Amino acid sequence: MADSALDLVAPRACAGCDRPDLLLCPSCRSLLFRPLSRPAPAYATGLALACAPYRGAVRRIILSWKDHDNRPLDRPLGQVMADLAPALSRLIDPLLRPKPARAILVVPAPSSLASLRRRGRVHLQPILLSLAQALQRHGLAAQVESALIMNSVRTKSVQAGGRRNRSHRLAGRIAVADPSRLAGHPVLVVDDIITTGSTIRQCARALETVGALPLAALALAAVPPGHEDR
Ligand SMILES: [Zn+2]
Repeated sequence: MADSALDLVAPRACAGCDRPDLLLCPSCRSLLFRPLSRPAPAYATGLALACAPYRGAVRRIILSWKDHDNRPLDRPLGQVMADLAPALSRLIDPLLRPKPARAILVVPAPSSLASLRRRGRVHLQPILLSLAQALQRHGLAAQVESALIMNSVRTKSVQAGGRRNRSHRLAGRIAVADPSRLAGHPVLVVDDIITTGSTIRQCARALETVGALPLAALALAAVPPGHEDR
């Protein structure tokens, strides 16, 4: 199995297909950039863009990076995110006229405290930096800002019960750490995987509350439209 203890001492294999001696084989690498979009009405562009459909080798590569601490994948995954910059800048350019007074903030979708502790880092950070640098090369003032936080679910609210309480609790899980750093900024939200779209929707809502402008959501991979519940 991919996560057996033996892997710790075994030579590296392709994260997508286990072919030996490569971080990523050429065919798996080529699967990482097959861009797709999904409707995301909470954002000014109305879209979420992803580098590739979330399935097969792409799914294995992202899980190896995200859940099994395969950090050498930071670089190729950062590269595919940067490769979205041309399409993204064409998409957001019309929304940024007249030129915004404030920089575009590239913001990670927040992880739970438990995930942050387990990983020991904000795993999206290198991906965000790569995207921000690519946008700068396209003449856009972009900077990384880890502005969103995920509150832990409190047992008290769970016990309070009721459907209404539950949806309120879920909607309130994503919050803005420091509203003064966001007000008036156009924002790109970046997540690793978009499945149901609920996280990026909550991120947009939290951003709007503090006067930021959510432009678009981005992800390394997304479940294609119409397949969300499979
Ligand atoms: Zn491979």
